[in-house]
Amino acid sequence: MNLEELRNLLPSKVKVLAVSKGQEISAIRLLASSGQVDFGESRVQEALPKLDSLKDLQDIRWHFIGSLQANKVRQVVRNFDVIHSVDSLKLAKRISRIAVEELKSPRVMAQVKFRNDPTKGGFNCEELIDSWNELTELPSMDFVGLMTISPLSFDLTQRKALFKECRLFADNLGLEDCSMGMSADWKEAVESGATWIRLGTSLFGSR
Ligand SMILES: *Cc1c(COP(=O)(O)O)cnc(C)c1O
Repeated sequence: MNLEELRNLLPSKVKVLAVSKGQEISAIRLLASSGQVDFGESRVQEALPKLDSLKDLQDIRWHFIGSLQANKVRQVVRNFDVIHSVDSLKLAKRISRIAVEELKSPRVMAQVKFRNDPTKGGFNCEELIDSWNELTELPSMDFVGLMTISPLSFDLTQRKALFKECRLFADNLGLEDCSMGMSADWKEAVESGATWIRLGTSLFGSR
């Protein structure tokens, strides 16, 4: 899909995160040259050499969207502007502590599971509510929203219902951003109030 066509379809509050995992440096440069600013990576080991080869592109913002291991937090805090995948209070505390040390202040989102999905990490809703005060008081990180991933087995109707729940939950917590929707279900996410859609294959082609 062409980025320009896509932008024309989207409400102005919806931003496109170009998920560049598994893609060539040249493909990322090409998309950046057409005005794409926000890029997402999900594996630290793969991302760091890519970020390094692209550091001449100073306007790019990097978003971390994958499962984040404790021993990789420092590298992510140093190199990424936004973290979509904060999936526990323990991880949030670690990010905060390291961000203080590194003089950084990442924008972060809590990854939430609205259905039981053993293949995915994330807070369930009760856990997030229980941790909420502590989370939002952590220094040097800015909680801006929620992120969710639909279970693969869901059809588009089920996905839309799940995305609506995410939007409602974010509204109740006073959060602006919902990072939800990927190549297969971004339309349903946009209709449900996403502010970030995370597109890999539909923008870049297959991995
Ligand atoms: C890979 C990935 C995407 C993009 O997936 P596509 O189906 O290629 O659009 C979005 N979000 C997360 C968390 C991912 O890991």
